[in-house]
Amino acid sequence: MTLQDLVRPNIWDLTPYTCARDEFSGEAQAWLDANENSRILGYNRYPDPLQKQVKQRIAELRGVNPENIFLGVGSDECIDIAYRVFCRSGIDNVVAIEPTYGMYQVCAQVNDVEYRRAKLNDDFTLNIDSIIDACDSNTKIVWICSPNNPTANAFSIQDIKKICQRFNGITIVDEAYIDFSEAGSMVSALEEFPRLIVMQTFSKAWASAAIRLGIAFASTEIIGIFNKVKYPYNISLLTQQQALTVLNNAAHIKQVVADIITARINLAKELLALKLVKEIYPSDANFLLVKVTDADAIYQYLCQCGVVVRNRSKVALCNNCLRITVGDDNENNLLIKMLQQYDSVK
Ligand SMILES: *Cc1c(COP(=O)(O)O)cnc(C)c1O
Repeated sequence: MTLQDLVRPNIWDLTPYTCARDEFSGEAQAWLDANENSRILGYNRYPDPLQKQVKQRIAELRGVNPENIFLGVGSDECIDIAYRVFCRSGIDNVVAIEPTYGMYQVCAQVNDVEYRRAKLNDDFTLNIDSIIDACDSNTKIVWICSPNNPTANAFSIQDIKKICQRFNGITIVDEAYIDFSEAGSMVSALEEFPRLIVMQTFSKAWASAAIRLGIAFASTEIIGIFNKVKYPYNISLLTQQQALTVLNNAAHIKQVVADIITARINLAKELLALKLVKEIYPSDANFLLVKVTDADAIYQYLCQCGVVVRNRSKVALCNNCLRITVGDDNENNLLIKMLQQYDSVK
């Protein structure tokens, strides 16, 4: 399969909007090309449409070239743009592991693309045969989330590579939680697999959910197509500035991530001591998937206590499971205190 076989023909043929700043780069004496207000300074100019400074810093940190990076308004935009580039509405389909992050399905529905589920094994490992069996000649994307939300585990790099080898469409690996994991990133496999896309986000380890910034790493050809489909100025100047600030604090972020992992281990120990906790699944992320005696009742009880967790008990393989984010010390202590009270009454 060539890339052209996988991209929707209308997108392949698309002539992108050329924005005012595409034709001239450098320092001009007068910027009279974009109808901006030149009299009030600060945020009066359109931002860099290709976010060169931010990409340069990400490229250095992740060991790729800036041309292999696309930036979107959160992973949300990266996910949606993948559908719009590769999937013909009403014709093509995608395959995703089950259970996993809900946005892959929502975006499939928005784009009128069939969404197929391939259940994980009972121990939450990848069932490679079931993923490949779910694919047909109209399957454009296979979605793998690693570490996976809500099961919290990372998949083996070997297994993910097997999917890249056996599936001849686009494999997308969502690494939103990769900084909390010992499992390696698939970013280093991009050259080996030209139809691989790896997504990361500023919303978790980078502590910047509010700025809405997501990353897609891929071949220069795929990034070029994403760039032509996106809104010209999708990433605001405020977001680009704040992204540079956090990227320049990488050492601090690394320390905080290590602290969160320590807190996760301690939280798991305290939870395990409770009668209401049946099992805590191994986590490579900043949250725990916890099997309890009665997820619905405990979820309701915690809400009444002002402690909000995610009830995942209706999700495949997650019967009676709550997904609990590792919070700050006060939040974690309050959670444990409230659950101890529940334990003592039952
Ligand atoms: C939280 C999360 C994201 C982040 O999405 P943004 O739009 O970047 O905030 C992406 N993927 C998964 C699996 C997540 O859990």
